[in-house]
Amino acid sequence: MFKKFLPDRHVKSILDIKPEELKKHHIKGIITDLDNTLVAWYEPEATPALKTWFQEMKAAGIKVTVVSNNSENRVKAFCAPLDVPFISKARKPLTKSFRRAIEKMGLKKDEVVVIGDQLMTDVWGARRLGVYTILVVPVAMTDGFMTRLNRKIERQILNHLRKKGLIYWED
Ligand SMILES: [Mg+2]
Repeated sequence: MFKKFLPDRHVKSILDIKPEELKKHHIKGIITDLDNTLVAWYEPEATPALKTWFQEMKAAGIKVTVVSNNSENRVKAFCAPLDVPFISKARKPLTKSFRRAIEKMGLKKDEVVVIGDQLMTDVWGARRLGVYTILVVPVAMTDGFMTRLNRKIERQILNHLRKKGLIYWED
């Protein structure tokens, strides 16, 4: 039953995901979570390194859409300066927002990857849809209130997957 939380890949940081590698796998679009995936949940703006990451993806012709469960205010304030499309109040792990993002990018399910830091929302949702999923280590060690509840369950799932040798963090 834990398999539905198992990401296809896991990396330490979103910055480790490179356009060349995605293109090699015929990926044309990225759906990414915001809080603790791109920046810490309390951080209003992108870091310079992250801005470069977005530019590199754009230059490589890889579309990016931010899909976040957070409020429109938070997500819009972050995405607008980057000129990156977004869906807020996404209600992950429901798949509707993922499907909408894929449709808006004009892509197919097998042409996108979902990147996120949470098993219970990002990974589970993407897997339900059958989309390739990359889990990242949370940027900050703390979380907002709702996420804290999810993390308790998540820790148990992670421990289970680790024990089974199904998960480890790439260096
Ligand atoms: Mg997150």
